[in-house]
Amino acid sequence: MSKVLIVEDEQHLADGLRFNLEAEGYEVEIAADGETALDQLIGFPKNFDVVVLDVMLPGKNGFEVAAELREAGQFVPILMLTARNRAEDVLKGFEAGADDYLPKPFELAILMARLRGLLRRREWFHLSQETVSPDNGGDQFRFANKMIDFAELELRAGNRVEKLTLMEADLLRYLIRHEGKPVSRRNILEEVWGLHEDTDTRAIDNFIARLRKLIEDEPSIPRHLLTVRGVGYRFVANPE
Ligand code: CA
Repeated sequence: MSKVLIVEDEQHLADGLRFNLEAEGYEVEIAADGETALDQLIGFPKNFDVVVLDVMLPGKNGFEVAAELREAGQFVPILMLTARNRAEDVLKGFEAGADDYLPKPFELAILMARLRGLLRRREWFHLSQETVSPDNGGDQFRFANKMIDFAELELRAGNRVEKLTLMEADLLRYLIRHEGKPVSRRNILEEVWGLHEDTDTRAIDNFIARLRKLIEDEPSIPRHLLTVRGVGYRFVANPE
């Protein structure tokens, strides 16, 4: 049975969600604010399988809660409930470490589908034997002196081990699949994040900066994740 933590201060909404999720066979707990959620999640990696995190909370907001969880090494999948569907807010959520988002108000059926999707994605990352490159066995990708382990959601560089969110792993996988070719910001938004509305595609650049911190030796002089002027980005596994 999958266990869900709902982080939402509007009690009627939280109770309604709990009722419906329990009817679908989930085990559910509610945290009415961010601090309570952090207490329940940090240091307890296996307590919950997925978190539904509202952005609008008293005290710490959802962005802050997600960022603190990731900083503390808690990588439980997070579905963020955003007040608006603006790309800026969505990207802010992803930057904070969310794995998916749903704008309020939402239909219950959609929320259920998103939760199932997150749980499946997590399983897929753990079980997938898919090869991301013909040169690599299993679910690992090696480049330069680094290795991305998609099963463990880790990036290893020498002795350094960085945890990846599902979203970061998705984006890296997408870039690796298109290795050597330019990919547009719009393609990334549509194919990795499922954002189809007309958006300021520049909003993605902050997120790329975060990935550069992970994979580049010198993030300000990228060698792997290159900017292609007027287009977007290009991933190069083994630069000259
Ligand atoms: Ca709220």
